[in-house]
Amino acid sequence: MRSPIPDSVMPSLNQELERFRPSAIAEMFSLASRLKAQGRDIVDLTIGEPSFKTPEHIKRAAIAAINADVTKYTSSSGNLELRRAICAKFERDNGLVFHSDQILVDSGVKPLLFHAMKAMLADGDEVILPTPCWTSYPGMVVLAGARPVFVPCSQDAGFKLQAADLERAITPSTKMLVLNSPSNPTGATYDAAGMRALTDVLLRHPDVWVMADDIYEHVVCGDFKFATPAQVEPLLYDRTLTLNGVSKAYSMTGWRIGYAAGPERLIRAILQVLSQTTGCACSVSQAAALAALNGPQTFLREWAESYEMRRNHLVARLRDVPGLSCNLPEGAFYLFPSCAGLIGKLTPQGQTIGSSTDFVRFLLQEHGVAVVPGSAFEYDPHFRISYAVSLVELERACERIERACRALTWERPSLA
Ligand code: PLP
Repeated sequence: MRSPIPDSVMPSLNQELERFRPSAIAEMFSLASRLKAQGRDIVDLTIGEPSFKTPEHIKRAAIAAINADVTKYTSSSGNLELRRAICAKFERDNGLVFHSDQILVDSGVKPLLFHAMKAMLADGDEVILPTPCWTSYPGMVVLAGARPVFVPCSQDAGFKLQAADLERAITPSTKMLVLNSPSNPTGATYDAAGMRALTDVLLRHPDVWVMADDIYEHVVCGDFKFATPAQVEPLLYDRTLTLNGVSKAYSMTGWRIGYAAGPERLIRAILQVLSQTTGCACSVSQAAALAALNGPQTFLREWAESYEMRRNHLVARLRDVPGLSCNLPEGAFYLFPSCAGLIGKLTPQGQTIGSSTDFVRFLLQEHGVAVVPGSAFEYDPHFRISYAVSLVELERACERIERACRALTWERPSLA
């Protein structure tokens, strides 16, 4: 048997890895899982995953595909029937007309975003990321050789990017703006008017690509009308990549299907990257995604209403908790409360809460609730709660969060 190679003689690793952190969401999720494995009762609010089962008609389509031996490689851009269904989806939901050569299917929006950035970005390019932003964007930008430029969006402005801030952030090196509405981690959304304020700025900067991550399109509250940049401003059609997928809408996170639409030249460039990496998305999952997009859509509204009920409960409970403040998200299934009012307080064990990470650790270790610190989303002192869990679980979490916050004090307990 070969002896293990000591670290000192291991070949070097990619230095770029030092420029970004591994996913803090995955870190918290695995810490919570470890504590659960040790027998601790943990309410896990770390992962952004719908609580519903994948609908039966979608599962049946996948089983039928297996039985029909649809188990081989597909075209790298995705099977034609699925790409046609995606065209129909864009026309139906967004009023956007594409033909099948303008569509790409990949193993989730996550790899597709990365493949797109690899095709679009070069060394020295800047990518504008409004923050708080999804934890994976900065790492992908760095891996693609570019530089993330963070533009903070205040809680008072509903965590929405302001046109003036966007204008100020654009430099001759800006190559891309990433827009994610509804947002992970804040649930902030842009209606057509809000989106237009941003697209008006973009019209003045023709060298900037728009990356529209619409994965939470169907998870919106009340009468909110979803809007996407290429729909709001047709002049941006030729420099926008619109991404979407089945993970969040149809509760299909494990099936790994995402898709994108854009100008054909861009799609061909991304295909060049994708064909050398993923190769193609899973053929059975593509059959399932086809059933999702072509099948009944009415349950999407029912699911969205169910998330909205959980949101209302969570926000009402947390607004009564001292030290926390939160606004009302309009979409996705995340709440991003501020814990600024707790910073500087002491735990019963005498430790100072110096950051959202300290608070999140205290919450998990002492009160058994797992959430994600704001640092994971480039914005502090906040933390993210994924409320895509049952109302019963959510209420258990609220009780524990309230108890944890009330246990923190300004003064060290006197020993006298
Ligand atoms: N984009 C955002 C904003 C997300 O929050 C996520 C998943 O959490 C993804 C993309 C990834 O989606 P997929 O499951 O299609 O890879």
